[in-house]
Amino acid sequence: MSRAEIVLQAPCDALVVPLEQVPDPVFAGGQLGPGLAIEPLGQTLHAPCAGTVVMCATTRHALTLRLGDEPDAPELLLHLGLDTVELGGRGIEALVAVGQQVEAGAPLLRFDADLLAREATSLVTPLVFIAGVQLRIEAQAPGRVTQGETLARLSFATDAGRSGEAGGPRCEGSATVALEAGLHARPAAKLKAIGEHHASRLSFALDGAEAEAGRLTAMLGLGIGFGSRVAVRAEGGDAAAALREAIALLETAEGARSPSAAGIDAGVSRVLDAIDADGVLRGVAASTGVAVAPLVRLRAQRIEVARAGAGVEQELARFDRALGELRTQLGGDRARATREEDAQILAAHLEWLDDPELTERTVAGIERGESAGFAWRETLDAQIAQLERAESALIRSRAGDLRDLEQRLLALLEGVESAVAVPHGAILVADDLTPSQLIQLDSVEPKGLCLAAGGATSHVAILARARGLPCLVGMGQALGDALDDETLESVRLAVLDAERGTLELRPGPERLAEAQRRRDSLAREHAEAFGAASSEARTRDGALIEVAANIGHPDEAEAAFAQGADGIGLFRSEFLFLDRPVAPDRGRQRADYQAALDAMQGKPVIIRTLDIGADKQLDYLRLGQTPNPALGMRGVRLIEGHQALLVDQLRALLECRPPAGKGGLRIMLPMVTDLLDVRRVREWIDTLVDELGLAEDADFVAPELGVMIEVPAAALCAASLAREVDFFSIGTNDLTQYTLAMDREAPGLAARMDALHPAVLRLVRLCVEGAALYGRKVGVCGAAAGDEIAVAALIALGVDELSMEPARVPAIKAWVRRLDRARLAARIDEALALDDAAQVRSWVARSITTNP
Ligand code: PEP
Ligand code: MG
Repeated sequence: MSRAEIVLQAPCDALVVPLEQVPDPVFAGGQLGPGLAIEPLGQTLHAPCAGTVVMCATTRHALTLRLGDEPDAPELLLHLGLDTVELGGRGIEALVAVGQQVEAGAPLLRFDADLLAREATSLVTPLVFIAGVQLRIEAQAPGRVTQGETLARLSFATDAGRSGEAGGPRCEGSATVALEAGLHARPAAKLKAIGEHHASRLSFALDGAEAEAGRLTAMLGLGIGFGSRVAVRAEGGDAAAALREAIALLETAEGARSPSAAGIDAGVSRVLDAIDADGVLRGVAASTGVAVAPLVRLRAQRIEVARAGAGVEQELARFDRALGELRTQLGGDRARATREEDAQILAAHLEWLDDPELTERTVAGIERGESAGFAWRETLDAQIAQLERAESALIRSRAGDLRDLEQRLLALLEGVESAVAVPHGAILVADDLTPSQLIQLDSVEPKGLCLAAGGATSHVAILARARGLPCLVGMGQALGDALDDETLESVRLAVLDAERGTLELRPGPERLAEAQRRRDSLAREHAEAFGAASSEARTRDGALIEVAANIGHPDEAEAAFAQGADGIGLFRSEFLFLDRPVAPDRGRQRADYQAALDAMQGKPVIIRTLDIGADKQLDYLRLGQTPNPALGMRGVRLIEGHQALLVDQLRALLECRPPAGKGGLRIMLPMVTDLLDVRRVREWIDTLVDELGLAEDADFVAPELGVMIEVPAAALCAASLAREVDFFSIGTNDLTQYTLAMDREAPGLAARMDALHPAVLRLVRLCVEGAALYGRKVGVCGAAAGDEIAVAALIALGVDELSMEPARVPAIKAWVRRLDRARLAARIDEALALDDAAQVRSWVARSITTNP
């Protein structure tokens, strides 16, 4: 191995920037090689050392010097600015030719700094060694250097491969991404959590670019889309587990997206830039509906910031303070959010705010003498530009979220009021809108939204759908061009018809009347659907089906009640025990269970006892190693080795008082195999009733005790179980897993893990038959209960309660009302005789259409 020492001189007056702070992941991640970067203050780049020019791009933005005569001598790439290739050579002049030998300090490239500053992403100029070199670099500390001054001392070995990285076990694998929308903020945040949980450094690579799990922006910048093949690496800690979980996350679909969003997605890449002679503008419908209202144009507010800071200490303190305030604001907004969508988006913003990529780069800017506002804007603008270049429409649409954070923090730093002042009840027109601006606009009750930019998968679009606000996006330049002040003045009432994707500026009286009629009839339909959600769901032939909700926290019970749920069909109580250093005490548990009962106002609430084990583990509960945790100590089996935990929970449950003192609470046991599991718990309940003196309490009504049917043995012996329990709830997720012997966490098997498999449906039938012998009710609380096709089969088999995520309740109720149970039941044996789940699915779908 030959070693060499080289001194690099500053190629011009410049600010020194560490390579990892270059606002481009390919450079910052060292993909092109090790090195450093400068932010030029002059307009000519000089040779940092002697060498031969071996490459000069035709666009003159990049030039390579070979440092020595040997063919394997190291090569130094000087890359003038970022994305400067797109200038096509404008503003850059090459002062040397390929093959020319140059001395240190010889002029190489002259450039127009103003033009580059305006048109390129950044002037930051990386200097990287592109051959396979192992490099030790002693660079100038970040700060100012003058041309010719020593920039760095390098010592490198020329024939080394890639330097190995230390740090614990290392595993590599790959994943084919099944996230329908590609990698976006929420799964990216989950990957970060997986790495932290296993104390492993997780990194992902696609098309030569690499990003670490903690670097949210860089992760999104990879442009990982549905179907991408991503290389995954885990290092340190429990690397194997981290790798497995990360791959599982990437390879598992996030679940059905709202049909409106999915349908729109395909067309959104088209930017519709047209206005026709009748004053009709077109866009992509991101949220359907019709609005008739005056137009108001929102203009972007540019917050002015000074470039120079008032001193590093002072600017760092201002930045920290503003970050803290924004965190508090976002936390407060999230706590006050009345819609789940708002809360989720605000939570993602909070995560993003903690992305070290954003803070570290801002701090680096401040340390270079910039003001906090300037450094923050530069950092965010570079990241926004990167997201906007992504191929995936979804990732591009996340630029709006970063812009939101940029604006909110700048407003705090500069003391600018960020509220948008607009009149009530208007159709809002804007180039773009950030999620928090839309949330603020709730108070003026806008009637519709038209955006020049944006996509149907953007968070603003999600928020518009959550509000039932008609919204067109991607309207392009035409929107701004058409709506000059004079035109705006002349429009009295416009029609936003998101069903047709149009904004009509000059509707005649007839069109106005027609649009108003359509708007009113849509409002009636919506109100009917929502109103009907609270009433019972009966099939066309009169069978009553209870449609309940699954929750993991008492807060969600309120949402369930508001969505018209007939009860809580599954309260996964283990969620109260996860992510804590110790189990919640009895008082805390009682308060949470009581809160759910109170929120449901006397409707039945089924609380499942702790379902820990397999995929859900508690740090403070040592379950011991077992080769196959899914078949080990889990669910109700905990009563054997961890009795105190379960008994304490039963105590807390028995101490609850359902509203009005009767009905309401039901206790459900998970992972029951046979009556042995039930009897042990029943004995404990009897003991506790004595111990708490409940038999003498006139207000006490013994809660019903039911079991989940998740284990094939329980389904096969349903008749025996039904003798001693009050109800069944079929956990189709686990029942399918155990029946088909397919791990529910195994991504490769996801497509075949379908509860509509005839084997699973036969077990459902056995449950219903066993329950009927003793007059017990049978519910379903696995994911199949929220799946329309599965619902039809389950109802035909005799299931009379379905429990699902709260938001699905109105839709499933409406669906139940369309079904004819008796007609489907008469033919369901045909489905049970089929070969696989896919055949059953198409059989059910056909049977429903022939049975409208
Ligand atoms: C199930 O197994 O279907 C179920 C509802 O329980 P969980 O998904 O919590 O295991
Ligand atoms: Mg289960």
